[in-house]
Amino acid sequence: NHFLQQIEAKKHLNAFLEVFAEEALIQAGKLDKLRAKGDKMGKLHGVIVGLKDVISYKNHKLSAASKILENYKAVYNATVVDSLLAEGAIIIGRQNCDEFAMGSSNENSAFGKVLNDADNSRVPGGSSGGSAVAVQAGMCMVSLGSDTGGSVRQPADFCGVVGLKPSYGRVSRYGLIAYASSFDQIGIFSQSVEDAALTLEVIAGKDDFDSTVSNEPVEAYSSALNENKKYKIAYIKQSLEHPSLNIEIKTSIYAYIEKLKEAGHQVDAIDFEYLDYVVPAYYVLTTAEASTNLSRYDGVKFGYQIKEASGDLTDFYKKNRSYGFGKEVKRRIMLGSFVLSSLYYDSYFTKAQKVRQIVANKAQEIFSIYDALISPTAPSTAFKFEEKNHDATEMYLADIYTVFANLAGIPGISLPLFKSKLGIPFGMQVMTNQMKELSLLNLSKQMV
Ligand code: GLN
Repeated sequence: NHFLQQIEAKKHLNAFLEVFAEEALIQAGKLDKLRAKGDKMGKLHGVIVGLKDVISYKNHKLSAASKILENYKAVYNATVVDSLLAEGAIIIGRQNCDEFAMGSSNENSAFGKVLNDADNSRVPGGSSGGSAVAVQAGMCMVSLGSDTGGSVRQPADFCGVVGLKPSYGRVSRYGLIAYASSFDQIGIFSQSVEDAALTLEVIAGKDDFDSTVSNEPVEAYSSALNENKKYKIAYIKQSLEHPSLNIEIKTSIYAYIEKLKEAGHQVDAIDFEYLDYVVPAYYVLTTAEASTNLSRYDGVKFGYQIKEASGDLTDFYKKNRSYGFGKEVKRRIMLGSFVLSSLYYDSYFTKAQKVRQIVANKAQEIFSIYDALISPTAPSTAFKFEEKNHDATEMYLADIYTVFANLAGIPGISLPLFKSKLGIPFGMQVMTNQMKELSLLNLSKQMV
């Protein structure tokens, strides 16, 4: 009841596309009876969770914040949903986001923008803006989002909450609407590192429905947070000296590095001369994957179908897709089709794959020496609505700090550590090697 009231009180933020009020209350009642009977309680008994509207919850609508899926209902549960329910979580609703998880400001939702609760004239970040705001504004305890190039970490940064993107393959993607399958990963928003750790423990692990999930056993993340281990930490010099980085963020992070050293950690500056190539490589590869993933929304296999069909089949597809997809999604489908076309494949797609390999090699080189890599999460704090959405390139370039982790498949977390002079929260990002979530969370716990 408390969370339903909070959702109602904060309705103007537009964080939820749908609230499962009645169902949530019934579920809460059932859980209460279980507890009264003295039955064993799940790890997430009574925890109120929201789902970004790209995660399947059987018999509930699933729109990806797109008109093309406006009336679609999920026919099965995502593996993460089964895992949450099995541990007693209560799913309270579907959260607003950028259409098909494409964007950094939540301005690309077909169902309206989401407001940042810290300042309603500012964006919450994206693409999982609704999920970040729901935790920020206390409308649920934990949200699940998806992170292909920063969509959990960047909105967490903008809203002053914790945002964790696990390693590629740590959490099953079964039931997650695909944007770019070799990058996508389900992530967690929470108020604390402990909550993120416990939720990860529940949703991570092997799944017969997703062959890209690692078979490595899931560690007891939540119970291993209290060690006071000292870490060897690196930061990329070019990232803190990047011309796009806001000066307040830069000084805060340099000051924080000194604090880490005082606390007994080793922190070294390292070089990565290809930093400016990570965003172009990310957008070539993800739009390529998106253009093929989104071909299924043609009005026949999936998606909106126009009433009066005229012309041939191609014409029919065109009409359905022209109506159903928004501007940004269309732009990415076109860009992806272009970089995959036979004439340009080698100059764009192949080249971007080479950059991806360089990034992966760099990550391995870093983590052969260091336990963790730190960086800003974003080059600016939450910006104003309409400030960046007229210039796609400018918006894309702001992903400079987050896409590294997705290109390399490593985990990353954004920790809410700072506030700007204007009172806008911002954070810092920590990354570790693949499947090293335990160190990531342990170090994070020491930092917040
Ligand atoms: N801002 C990035 C993009 O628009 C990240 C999206 C995501 O992680 N889903 O592609």
